[in-house]
Amino acid sequence: MKWQGRQGSDNVEDRRGMGTTGKVAIGGGIGTVIIALVVLLLGGDPSGILNQGSTTTETGQYQPTAEEEQLAEFVSVVLKDTETIWGKIFQESGQTYRQPKLVLFSGQVASACGYASSSSGPFYCPGDEKVYIDLEFFANLQARLGAYGDFAIAYVVAHEIGHHVQNLLGVLNDVNSQRARLSETQSNQLLVRLELQADFLSGIYAHYLETLPDKPLEIGDIEEAMNAAASVGDDVLQKKYQGRVYPDSFTHGTAAQRKEWFRRGYQTGDFAQGDTFRANI
Ligand SMILES: [Zn+2]
Repeated sequence: MKWQGRQGSDNVEDRRGMGTTGKVAIGGGIGTVIIALVVLLLGGDPSGILNQGSTTTETGQYQPTAEEEQLAEFVSVVLKDTETIWGKIFQESGQTYRQPKLVLFSGQVASACGYASSSSGPFYCPGDEKVYIDLEFFANLQARLGAYGDFAIAYVVAHEIGHHVQNLLGVLNDVNSQRARLSETQSNQLLVRLELQADFLSGIYAHYLETLPDKPLEIGDIEEAMNAAASVGDDVLQKKYQGRVYPDSFTHGTAAQRKEWFRRGYQTGDFAQGDTFRANI
């Protein structure tokens, strides 16, 4: 993707180096009341993806590498593009897009949805309308999951922003209230549909990138996104980290499904094609 020299977002909140103490609640299986549905990028067992408890640094002491600074800049440009794209799509349907914040953190972070560690992977918290990302995740995305290329990262950011769009449209709320009445397996099936829609919305973002004056999409970008979508499929992650596949516990969809819904968003650019709750997925 062409991103160097392009404008970044004002909505990045840099909390790297601000270590927090407290229990890790998100993805940690602590049985407290669910205050809000937290949406993660990964299902299965993501704990092997990042090293737990990255080095504890003190506030103000954080020294990112030059490479990490580039990554932060890249993410900021992607966020800016999502603001432009979703701002336009909402406006065209007579609605206003409320821009989310994107929090960069290292190690652990406190959100309105509880404490999280890097091992949760990127996530969106509807309670504070913020996306949380530890940039270290992206290094592992390539090294451990084989999701190469800068557009793999853009896909992940746009997927999380997709959850924000779902929040603004009331979809997250609907899903959350339905889940209370469902069995665990049924609830998981509903989550799969929610996640596939976020992949679809990531595809919509990619589609609209082509309409921006900068024309940021480059050859190979879409392939990188599709490969990344497949690399975080529940079947792929479970096979990798648990040795076999447990379809009842899928919460994000298979590699094939994730790829397919991203592709649909990208190819159609049509919001109406993304009703994963009614579609035969
Ligand atoms: Zn997700």
